[in-house]
Amino acid sequence: MAKTFILKIYRGEPKRQYWEEFELELKPSINVISALMEIQMNPINRKGEKVTPVNWEQGCLEEVCGSCSMLINGRPSQACTAIIEPILKKTGSSVITLAPFTKFPLVRDLVVNRTKMFEDLKRTKSWISADGSFTHGFGPKISQAKQETMYTLSTCMTCGCCSEACPQVNQNSKFIGPSPISQVRLFNLNPSGKMEQSKRLHTLMEEGGISECGNSQNCVQVCPKEIPLTESIAVTGREVSKQALKDIFNISDRD
Ligand code: SF4
Ligand code: SF4
Repeated sequence: MAKTFILKIYRGEPKRQYWEEFELELKPSINVISALMEIQMNPINRKGEKVTPVNWEQGCLEEVCGSCSMLINGRPSQACTAIIEPILKKTGSSVITLAPFTKFPLVRDLVVNRTKMFEDLKRTKSWISADGSFTHGFGPKISQAKQETMYTLSTCMTCGCCSEACPQVNQNSKFIGPSPISQVRLFNLNPSGKMEQSKRLHTLMEEGGISECGNSQNCVQVCPKEIPLTESIAVTGREVSKQALKDIFNISDRD
């Protein structure tokens, strides 16, 4: 008889959530996304009832887009890289729980609305203003060491795992969360991006800014890209303090 496992999914809409179980064959290398696809093709729960297929989000399927974020056995994770067999071995259980993130508005089943993260990237001007710059020729050289740091920071996929794990991101707080702070570090490291450095740092001085980080360091433990978030928070915190001093003494970035 084929070996099976159970996906226990917290599904439904806001204020109407419930657990539902599905039993699936344990195929070689099956991951959470392919298991959800099997349910989609044959949405019969463990009670033998035909139910509506489970909703989830997916995009690249190679841990680059960040859209398949969910809680897998309670841990913020990417479903595309969550292979079933090692998870079962690690827990010694035949059941894996899937649940939507709790720090973002629930849409349905495993889908949440991560718009806040993208709005925060806009607030922190997380881009390089390059319009017309090509007429000025090549920009300044960036050292190998700096490039390596910037590359690591640039792998952020706005998945939201860090915010989900952060105790300071909650209904009673306006905390911006760790990833936009790390993106401020990234864009301020770029010689062209530096021109808007003070605007980014001023955004982090507002209510919900960097001072609301409680340094619990949960974020860095769950980032699927292993981005050194606490290092980014420390570095950016120092830059914010320097900016505050510049503001007091009325020193501009050009001085
Ligand atoms: S270190 Fe700061 S940002 Fe990271 S989880 Fe803790 S409070 Fe949140
Ligand atoms: S910093 Fe890491 S956990 Fe946070 S959004 Fe970016 S990739 Fe995801």
